Amino acid sequence: MNRARHRGQLIVLSGPSGVGKSTVIAELLSVRKDIYFSVSFTTRQPRVGEADGVNYNFVTRDAFEAMIAAGELLEYTEYVNHYYGTSLKVIEEKLDAGIDVLLDIEVQGAATVRTKCPEAVLIFIIPPSFEELSRRLHGRNTDGEEVIAGRLEKAKVECREIPNYDYLVVNDKVSWAAEEIIAILTAEGCRTKNRMNLVEGV
Ligand code: 5GP
Repeated sequence: MNRARHRGQLIVLSGPSGVGKSTVIAELLSVRKDIYFSVSFTTRQPRVGEADGVNYNFVTRDAFEAMIAAGELLEYTEYVNHYYGTSLKVIEEKLDAGIDVLLDIEVQGAATVRTKCPEAVLIFIIPPSFEELSRRLHGRNTDGEEVIAGRLEKAKVECREIPNYDYLVVNDKVSWAAEEIIAILTAEGCRTKNRMNLVEGV
């Protein structure tokens, strides 16, 4: 039997601002160390504690637009007046090498990935409730009332895209959310189409 690794799994994770996506991702990656987290390109400024090349590749608008023109992005979007996008080359290299790749992207980008890579698994993370999301956004102490109201409104609009996702995870407790995602990825890996290499020649 040929047990050679098949192509890596492309995993898309979306969820509203304040849902705790980054924390869930950090937990997930601490368990599934084999997953490659795709570092996006963005034109927004780094926040306190963010490092270039780690959280994002921070670039100018000109540089970003040059990447769009050169067709170097798998997907990109303009979100709250800033560009965000995923490098096509890096993703392809990892997937070809049999490495699973995780994208943390918003709903428009996810829709593009769905069209371009139908085999991707799309996961949406929601808060236990909108009241809880509001509490979390207030708890950050970084944004004013108006900004928070805008984020809550945007969250509602984003949630309309949930039917386009394969899985829905509730971030009630970070470790549970990460466990659910790990379970999803394990099940995806067991799909017949992803395991045909195990029975080739039988
Ligand atoms: P933030 O500025 O809070 O880091 O991210 C804002 C939003 O942009 C989040 O919903 C995040 O998932 C999304 N995002 C980050 N990188 C990308 C990307 O490469 N492409 C797309 N489409 N969205 C992204």
